[in-house]
Amino acid sequence: MAETLAIKIYPDSVLRLKNRQLKPEELQAQEFKQLILDMEKTMQEKDGVGLAAPQVGKNIQLAVIKTDQGTLVLINPKILRRSLKKEEMEEGCLSLPEIFGLVKRPIKIKLTALDASGKKMKFVATGYFARVIQHEVDHLNGILIIDRTKDIIKGKENLENMEHKT
Ligand code: ZN
Repeated sequence: MAETLAIKIYPDSVLRLKNRQLKPEELQAQEFKQLILDMEKTMQEKDGVGLAAPQVGKNIQLAVIKTDQGTLVLINPKILRRSLKKEEMEEGCLSLPEIFGLVKRPIKIKLTALDASGKKMKFVATGYFARVIQHEVDHLNGILIIDRTKDIIKGKENLENMEHKT
């Protein structure tokens, strides 16, 4: 049974911490497999397109992404190449509720990661899929869309209120 996890909301410091790499043997632990199921359920329930482990308070290199073929699990992802061509698009984030900004990102990336079973994957992603992956890899490096955008197009007041609460 999967559980819905609480999402850490900006400016929670857990979103800014370093996220450590996972060792292959850790992937076999029941607790880890459960975490993936819980993150998947949380992403679905919150209607997200992706979710990174620090967003549920775990500082490890793990993210789940919604695709047409089901959930893609990325462990220790690393972007190897980025296209020079970039595109600007509106982005939101479950850790920044009701805040949207224009974020410019490469339209094509090549990356490597482990899947849930520890198998090494290497693939090219384009368009919206590439954008979602880059958003999640940013989380794993402590980077949020508010660091990437020069233009918050929705929720500027929310952001200011959130920052003043701490
Ligand atoms: Zn996010």
